[in-house]
Amino acid sequence: MDFKDTLNEWAQKITEKTTEVVEIGKLHVTNCTKNEKINDLKKEIGTLCFEKFRSGDELDPAIENLCVEIKKLKGEIAENERTIRRMKENGGDTVDMAAAGYCPYCGEKLAKDAKFCAACGKEIEK
Ligand SMILES: [Zn+2]
Repeated sequence: MDFKDTLNEWAQKITEKTTEVVEIGKLHVTNCTKNEKINDLKKEIGTLCFEKFRSGDELDPAIENLCVEIKKLKGEIAENERTIRRMKENGGDTVDMAAAGYCPYCGEKLAKDAKFCAACGKEIEK
């Protein structure tokens, strides 16, 4: 085998390798997509189970525990949303804070007619 043949063989091998790498990449992408699909399906199973739980159907105790957990978290989320609404109603809004005489950024009491907060230096909008 002369030098040229060796070179050709090399080129052939590199081409094969490159194709292999591309194929591996494609398979990775395919598997990623399939794994995402599996996760979607798992979520769907979860949603179906939770709906059954909500309508009072009997579930496997392990699934029921997870549903109880979701219900608890949903309650906590709703509670947090209520707290946020309450805070906004009670002047959590930046402009209202300033009108009440407090810096909306750091909460420091502002000097009368202050244009800037003495504590944090932020401009106060009125
Ligand atoms: Zn401040």
